[in-house]
Amino acid sequence: MNLDVDKIREDFPILKQNLYSGQLVYLDNAATTQKPISVINIINEYYLKYNANIHRGVHYLSEKMTQAYEASRKTIKNFINAEHAHEIIFTSGTTESINLVAFSFGEQYIKEGDEILVTQMEHHSNIVPWQMLCERKKAKLKVININTFGELFLGELDNLLTEKTKLLAITHVSNTLGTINPLKEIIAKAHKKGVYVLVDGAQGVQHQQVDVVDLDCDFYVFSGHKIYGPTGIGVLYGKEKLLNEMPPYKGGGDMIKSVTFEKTIYNDLPLKFEAGTSNFIGAIGLDHAIRYVSNIGISNIAEYEKELASYTSIELAKIEGVKVFGNAMNKSSIISFNIQDVHSFDAGMVLDKMNIAVRTGTHCTQPIMDFFGISGTVRASLAFYNTTQEIDKLIEGVQKVKKLFG
Ligand code: PLP
Repeated sequence: MNLDVDKIREDFPILKQNLYSGQLVYLDNAATTQKPISVINIINEYYLKYNANIHRGVHYLSEKMTQAYEASRKTIKNFINAEHAHEIIFTSGTTESINLVAFSFGEQYIKEGDEILVTQMEHHSNIVPWQMLCERKKAKLKVININTFGELFLGELDNLLTEKTKLLAITHVSNTLGTINPLKEIIAKAHKKGVYVLVDGAQGVQHQQVDVVDLDCDFYVFSGHKIYGPTGIGVLYGKEKLLNEMPPYKGGGDMIKSVTFEKTIYNDLPLKFEAGTSNFIGAIGLDHAIRYVSNIGISNIAEYEKELASYTSIELAKIEGVKVFGNAMNKSSIISFNIQDVHSFDAGMVLDKMNIAVRTGTHCTQPIMDFFGISGTVRASLAFYNTTQEIDKLIEGVQKVKKLFG
């Protein structure tokens, strides 16, 4: 393992704190990640010294804030290798990014009888906006199923992509099963049939290098708070041509060139999609989070997390009665499991009292729960600041749960 994790942990003050009876073991990183001190400091600094609204003032503070906001857009463009900075739209998070596309793309491209394709492993936020669109436009939602390993049945893809299919919305990484989908292959197949592709990168972009040009995806979306940045800021990447053709999602200040009661002329990209006061200090926090992650190196992060996840799976497999859900060949550092005859909430509560933070329940993926016929799972989701010692504590905790409820 090639990361100096002890040194990295120094950058995350929250990890040092004691809860009930000892140090926090934070294994709920798929829900939200902790923030390095550089991100916390820059947010404080901007509120303390430079707070002013962007794009609207000629004064020093407004200029300074605007420059920092636009610099963040460039950092993100470079991070995901987009062609243009104006293809990066700031939103409040993955959910808003998907809703934006479902509305605006839907207005432009979807008509009665068209089909939208999603997968059985999507987070609710990559299902419901498409259902709402289908209802609005009398279109049809279709689904790519998963197998018991938690991988997509890609054999079904050619049949599911029909001349009626307009868009495929697919997650990069399953937030419940950890499956990393073979995006390049899937996107190429979709494009061959003229189908646009939106990738939900909420669990992808913080764990592996994303190159939107190489992937050739039409949209890639993610949340700042899951990549060590602040809450309330997220990203929609979209290809310039599509974003230009799509109507605005929200109306208001900043998204216009001119307004009269007779006619409004909308602004150019990216502001056309950024109505109202955006979370500009959040964008600066995200900029610094991405710089932090880039300094460590995404490939170093990926390698370390893979080893830690593999250690976790091996240790969990040694405990009789533990069943892991999601055994894909290509898997991220998300491990969902259940302990025989123990409800996931009960397990989570015992682990909590041992200072271990895991997530329990459906993880906003009810269709996955229905597929496996379960009410929920315990989910440990790992980040580069987690250690094997923390995994050992988790294993100890699982053994204790088993003893208590067995
Ligand atoms: N998509 C996936 C795969 C997720 O894991 C999540 C959150 O857990 C979301 C979408 C929604 O993200 P947010 O709540 O930040 O909008």
